[in-house]
Amino acid sequence: MEDTNCIFCKIIRGELPALKVYENDTLIAFLDIQPVNKGHTLIIPKKHYRNLYNLPDEILGKIGILMRDLAIAIKKAVGAEGINIEMNNESLAGQLVDHAHIHIIPRFLNDGLRHWPGKELPSDEMKKTREVIVSLIKKNT
Ligand code: 5GP
Ligand code: ZN
Repeated sequence: MEDTNCIFCKIIRGELPALKVYENDTLIAFLDIQPVNKGHTLIIPKKHYRNLYNLPDEILGKIGILMRDLAIAIKKAVGAEGINIEMNNESLAGQLVDHAHIHIIPRFLNDGLRHWPGKELPSDEMKKTREVIVSLIKKNT
């Protein structure tokens, strides 16, 4: 399912350069070309998967472990005071590269980044939403 035009597949094949920080049989991690902050790193599976929805359990598990280990290493390497983990899935959510990837973003005091704003929703809508999620997650696990 490798995509010949995919930028990240080209990095994996060595057709495009990247500042790699980690590689194993399943995953690679490299510095984002347009970092939000110093040390901004992407973790990607070597196989082309479009986003979170179709990532197999085994790969997702390995990503989780690497995410933790890299977060600790990056935080130390750049002297960050916090780490954000982000994954954009689908273009509406800001996914620009259609090869599943996790952002590890070091945070610094007064770095100008803002958290997304929360809002209040009616409590019956919240309860209904909860019920639907609970019913659907049971079907999938
Ligand atoms: P998305 O918006 O899809 O979650 O994020 C894609 C990320 O990939 C962006 O932060 C962007 O800077 C990064 N990116 C895009 N093309 C390249 C590239 O060729 N090399 C590297 N290292 N990062 C890239
Ligand atoms: Zn790809």
